[in-house]
Amino acid sequence: MSRKTLIAGNWKMNGLLTDGTALAKDVAAAVRKMEKPECEFLVCPPFTLLTTVKKALRGAKVALGAQDCHFAEKGAHTGDISPQMLKDAGCSYVILGHSERRTDHGETSELVCKKAGAAHDAGLKTIICVGETLSEREAGKALDVCTRQIIDSVPENATSADTVIAYEPVWAIGTGKVPTTGDVAEVHAAIRKTLAKKLGKGNAGKMRILYGGSVKPNNAKELLSLEDVDGALIGGASLKAEDFIAIAKNAGVC
Ligand code: PEP
Repeated sequence: MSRKTLIAGNWKMNGLLTDGTALAKDVAAAVRKMEKPECEFLVCPPFTLLTTVKKALRGAKVALGAQDCHFAEKGAHTGDISPQMLKDAGCSYVILGHSERRTDHGETSELVCKKAGAAHDAGLKTIICVGETLSEREAGKALDVCTRQIIDSVPENATSADTVIAYEPVWAIGTGKVPTTGDVAEVHAAIRKTLAKKLGKGNAGKMRILYGGSVKPNNAKELLSLEDVDGALIGGASLKAEDFIAIAKNAGVC
């Protein structure tokens, strides 16, 4: 089953007007130079940079995404951003349920599911993140945790057209530690099996499952060549255009 590789950058809470715009311009310039990239590129800057980055990406095949949204369309939710606002700012994607949101803001899988449904209704694609902590892995619970998060976080009517999954072991994010390729392959296969039960084999077979957690130019090839790994969600290395693009190049997808 062919699934277009997605190379997604999660800038997290990084970037002011000057350096954020420069980063977007550098990514855009590198992608514009590519003849026919076989992969899809996406950058997810902080909310404050969305419209500026959108302009900087003009003419380049790089999609724009946000890092979170509320489930409501509008109203009394101080500090929140609705899916409709993201769409209005030029986003086509939103990351949901990142472990930093689950930890810092106590987001549950049920809330993530509600947000994902609202984002889909607004015409956004979602990247729904799941992943185990180190203690869960050491206790042999990684598969159970990820399976449970998929069951509870992915809406019943999600499809491969509106949903991407990201497997991000919490202990691998920003640490330089990466699971063995065997462990990554095992979790991705379990996620696809769970998606098949929940959404049907057709959707599960076409749905992209990204790996995230210390992806760098030097480990991209071995991670992205695994059968059920359909791209990468990249934090730290997405803050340098050179590294972000090198990940796709080294993986052989552009
Ligand atoms: C992330 O936070 O989504 C992530 C994968 O970060 P890093 O690449 O820095 O580990």
